[in-house]
Amino acid sequence: MAEELNPFKISQEQLDKAAEVMGLDKNAHTILREPKRIATLNIPVKMRDGSTKVFTGFRVLYNDARGPGKGGIRYHPSESIDTVKALSAWMTWKTSLANIPYGGAKGGIICNPKELNESELESLSRGYIRALGRLIGPKVDIPAPDVYTNPQIMAWMMDEYSKIVGYDEFGVITGKPIEVWGSEGRFDSTAMGGMYVMREAAKRMNMDITKAKIAIQGFGNAGKFAFELATKLFNSKVVAISDSSGGIYSEDGLDYDQLVKLKETKGEISSYEKAEKITNQQLLELDADILIPAAIENQITAENADKVKAKMVLELANGPVTPDADQILFERGIFDAPDFLVNSGGVIVSYFEWVQNQEHYYWESDDVYKRLDKIITKSFNDVMKTKDDYAAKGKKISMRTAAYILAVSRVAQAMKTRGWY
Ligand code: NAD
Repeated sequence: MAEELNPFKISQEQLDKAAEVMGLDKNAHTILREPKRIATLNIPVKMRDGSTKVFTGFRVLYNDARGPGKGGIRYHPSESIDTVKALSAWMTWKTSLANIPYGGAKGGIICNPKELNESELESLSRGYIRALGRLIGPKVDIPAPDVYTNPQIMAWMMDEYSKIVGYDEFGVITGKPIEVWGSEGRFDSTAMGGMYVMREAAKRMNMDITKAKIAIQGFGNAGKFAFELATKLFNSKVVAISDSSGGIYSEDGLDYDQLVKLKETKGEISSYEKAEKITNQQLLELDADILIPAAIENQITAENADKVKAKMVLELANGPVTPDADQILFERGIFDAPDFLVNSGGVIVSYFEWVQNQEHYYWESDDVYKRLDKIITKSFNDVMKTKDDYAAKGKKISMRTAAYILAVSRVAQAMKTRGWY
């Protein structure tokens, strides 16, 4: 992996930058630059042709000063230890920013899940949990789904862990199906959290959200529910949407039901009637009030950040704005709400699932959304307060830097109080 693209180096540089602005204690900084524990696992799986194949997997516990590790498990052919380390650092900041009682962790297996049949996938998932053994647990480190893993895989993993400990331990993993005590509201929790942040940001900007024109990049789990919820909750107008095949635009607004039907029947959205075809690049530069990147990373770059016309960028995807572009948006006065705040709804509802599993008492979806709103709105206000406090001291910082400062300082404070430095 090229040095400049190494995600772990990037995560360390982001920490270094925040540490400098906030004047982080040197000892805290030294601890926070490296993960606490890295496990590398070799997992044998009996394949359908009778051979045995050994897959390599990882689980990294980055920091657990504020509580057990929390973070997803990815299945990907190009998974690497540096990606998992970086993602575990980012989870540490995300849980801290949301102020939920977790640290950060992440896992992954180098594999191509599309080449595995169901029984191979189940064997691999169970083997991963056997290899980890007591390195995970509801009080140690709690995995969840991520790229190419899903609720069914979480159910197998929970079942395998329960066999190891000798009793049902539903709280070892979140993102489970409802019938094995997943949480109501988990499926659209990321988009719902993003909508609450959008509402608060609009208030702060004096923007009338009911009249806002929204452009969304991506029509998957994050983008699709963001579309549905923006129209349902606020009556906002979604004027543009895209998927990997391209996008569509209509000044009068697009119809959600028609789009869902198209996606189901044709697998794409470009044949939508009465809309103009646009590219993914054009979507980012549209004359909309709010731009929601909800697809993949590195979409707003130094090349196009000058052309963004939206007044607010709501980062529902992970890493859609490059560091160079981040600086340009900041200098242009565009309200750029950072990813680890905007998309924290998923991990917050994962936290609710774990709480419900500990209590053996289950909440209705309204209750889940109400509590999510409370936590993420507080998180937004905490970030704005940090930004305002720095401005009052004559130091203008972006929302992302403010979020970093808040998250890192909470982890550093917990380590200090526990006597780690
Ligand atoms: P998904 O796979 O369900 O959907 C991704 C969407 O992006 C699809 O519509 C796909 O067609 C589109 N896409 C792919 N390549 C594209 C391209 N080059 N240009 C435009 N669109 C493209 O994924 P998701 O779960 O919706 O995740 C989207 C983003 O949100 C990711 O960055 C993910 O890390 C982040 N996120 C998701 C969740 C969640 O709960 N789903 C939680 C936190 C963060």
